[in-house]
Amino acid sequence: MSKVLIIGAGGVGGVVTHKCAGDRDTFSEIVLASRTLSRCEKIRKQVRDLRGREIEISQVDADDVAQTVALIKRVQPALVINVALPYQDLPLMEACLEAGVDYLDTANYEPPDEAKFEYKWQWAYRDRFESAGIMALLGSGFDPGVTNVFCAYAQKKLFDEIDYIDILDCNGGDHGRPFATNFNPEINIREITQRGRYWENGTWVEIDPMSQSRMFDFPEVGERKAYLLYHEELESLVKHIRGLKRIRFWMTFGDEYLTHLRVLENVGMTSIDPIEYEGREVVPIQFLKALLPDPSMLGENYTGKTSIGCLIEGRKDGQPRKLFIYNVCDHQASWKEVRAQAVSYTTGVPTMVGAKMMLTSQWRGKGVFNVEQFDPEPFLEELAVRGLPWHVREM
Ligand code: NDP
Repeated sequence: MSKVLIIGAGGVGGVVTHKCAGDRDTFSEIVLASRTLSRCEKIRKQVRDLRGREIEISQVDADDVAQTVALIKRVQPALVINVALPYQDLPLMEACLEAGVDYLDTANYEPPDEAKFEYKWQWAYRDRFESAGIMALLGSGFDPGVTNVFCAYAQKKLFDEIDYIDILDCNGGDHGRPFATNFNPEINIREITQRGRYWENGTWVEIDPMSQSRMFDFPEVGERKAYLLYHEELESLVKHIRGLKRIRFWMTFGDEYLTHLRVLENVGMTSIDPIEYEGREVVPIQFLKALLPDPSMLGENYTGKTSIGCLIEGRKDGQPRKLFIYNVCDHQASWKEVRAQAVSYTTGVPTMVGAKMMLTSQWRGKGVFNVEQFDPEPFLEELAVRGLPWHVREM
């Protein structure tokens, strides 16, 4: 029986709140805090209507460490769940250290003025968390998150040696809009417009953005073209999966999406450098975010499925083996259950499951950890129960 403080009332924050509210035994009290109180109010009403549970809400600016510390001290949670934006990771980790409480997030830190995401800033907190006797769990979403746990499970149960991993992320859904992103537009566009990168034979190989692609037959979606991107789980998996020769990440995009993105890039709308407009400083990508549909509003008319997994090659009992471990999630089913589309759902469910692993001490440690460092089995068992069943297909 534990009290949690969830920070961030966006698409993912809504799902996490619904899923925690659905497990009264673990999450006895829930406080949802975010920058805009009206977004917390909306989720509170949904949780009341759909789950029959009351939650507490609060306004907070998570960039302000003192404000968050005051909130944590007032609320006294057992865990802070960060589902705001990657920019808030470090101030929230600071606040957790100051207040002496455990921390969990779904995306690694990214400085606002540089489109670069790396674990180094958060891993640097390891000693301070360890000496404070508290735990931080990083990247407990789907990718990073479930994909890391799939790899840990493959290492523990399915292979003796792993050579190659390809993480394949397909959203085969249709939201009916000409152009929209499935999670925070600023973070999403920053991620896919940077140079691609993968790891092979101990070194990082860089490629031009979207310059490599492959076709893959995604379960329950079909053949789709996926593009090689850099994605943050690669950085931690190369440390934690033994004997790995190569790891890459691929994501599918439709032609329509890529054409819009190319035009926006060419006219400078995806830039993170401020420009002066009529005496005001404007950051083009932030202005673009204001124009694009709010990802949490895409759900109602979203049809189709996401199909995401890890294609893993290696050996078991002296025999070559190739497997795809994956989950398929339906946008409409997610909408019916928690009023969110499947991208928010597939992120929010593993966030709740990671929180449960910590609160029930099935995953415990002092310091800063990535999800693949813990036993994958209890997490995967709970994941299936909480709405994301997963499968292993021999290839
Ligand atoms: P949204 O933009 O929908 O929601 C973000 C929320 O955080 C908003 O409610 C926003 O408030 C709030 N917020 C922003 N800044 C602050 C602040 N300074 N203080 C308090 N609250 C703040 O994003 P998503 O829900 O789509 O994504 C949430 C997180 O999940 C992101 O970090 C994203 O990168 C991550 N993610 C991870 C995935 C994974 O698989 N691992 C996949 C998808 C997303 P306001 O309403 O005022 O803007």
